[in-house]
Amino acid sequence: LQKHDLEMKMVNRMNDLLQACKSKEEAYHVIGLAIGEIFPGQSGGLAILHDSGSYLETFAQWGDEQFLKPIFSLEDCWAMRRGQQHVVLDPQTSIMCSHFLQIPRQGYLCLPHVVQGETLGLLNIDMITGMDSEHELSSRQLFLTVGEGIKLSLSNIKLRELMRDQATHDPLTGLFNRRYLNDTLSRELNHARRSNSKTCVVMLDIDHFKRFNDTYGHEAGDLMLRELGWILKGDIRKSDIVCRFGGEEFVLILLDTSIEDCQKHLEKVIEKVKAQQVRFGGQLLGTMSLSIGVVEASESVMDADELLGAADKAMYAAKHAGRDCLILYRDLKKHLSKVKFFNKSN
Ligand code: GH3
Ligand code: MG
Ligand code: MG
Repeated sequence: LQKHDLEMKMVNRMNDLLQACKSKEEAYHVIGLAIGEIFPGQSGGLAILHDSGSYLETFAQWGDEQFLKPIFSLEDCWAMRRGQQHVVLDPQTSIMCSHFLQIPRQGYLCLPHVVQGETLGLLNIDMITGMDSEHELSSRQLFLTVGEGIKLSLSNIKLRELMRDQATHDPLTGLFNRRYLNDTLSRELNHARRSNSKTCVVMLDIDHFKRFNDTYGHEAGDLMLRELGWILKGDIRKSDIVCRFGGEEFVLILLDTSIEDCQKHLEKVIEKVKAQQVRFGGQLLGTMSLSIGVVEASESVMDADELLGAADKAMYAAKHAGRDCLILYRDLKKHLSKVKFFNKSN
């Protein structure tokens, strides 16, 4: 009874910790440590089905032995194939899974992680030497209880990650949305100010996109928005932010980047946009041009809203200057009276 009580305490502690995990990676770490503690002397691992559904990847192992292959096919596991636990008490006489680096000598248990009829992962543990059948059964039962807790927690984390992703991303392009930008820009700017690094904010708007939709249809327009998203995301660093700000307007935040480097980057983007050949329904779509406004964060303009406003003003000036051009906010301020702005050709 004491042993059971202690085991249940450990299971509850694991479930509590899993509840507080923010990511799958954190959860895998907790699972590895917790199972090692709950089943001392036994080895095993946790493998998760890849999003493609074609293979499993081992994310946690416990105990002294490393049994599971790092990557293996769904077909390699009898529990995964059948969506039911697979128990092997005697490896000599049983049907064996083939996902092992070395065969667990005393037998093993494979427990599939099934959520709403879908098998998403696998928990595996070896059997301990010299256990009588009653202890063996209760140990197996404990593993099932642990498995249930893990299953619930991983499903919750997955759902939370999905919701977080949906709340911060635009579904059409997969880019960050305006809400994410609003939440992060101030923080990034603060960081940049502290580390004395340069930040550029870029506002891009597709020229005559309404005409594009009218000519080729809304779906073709959607495809172009996605294509532009790919180009914008193309060669930027992980830390930079690419956001779909609204309909056909995009914002780039280039961190630790001077305005000169930002311009060079944008020239490449424009080149790609112009060279882009997109087919929709067998028809070659016309190319797009962009009007772009750029501002560099400085002592005088450092606030997130101010910067976005400044980039927007420069972008509108680019529209007034005839579209298909890039204008720097600092030039806009200098030459406000003459509307001869900086553009790609000079
Ligand atoms: P301008 O050069 O002045 O920017 O002209 P424009 O036609 O691009 O600008 P306007 O603001 O008049 O029109 C924007 C168009 O963008 C209208 C709308 O149909 C289109 N748009 C906005 N969101 C989407 C979308 O998600 N998909 C598609 N296909 N079109 C969109
Ligand atoms: Mg437009
Ligand atoms: Mg617009």
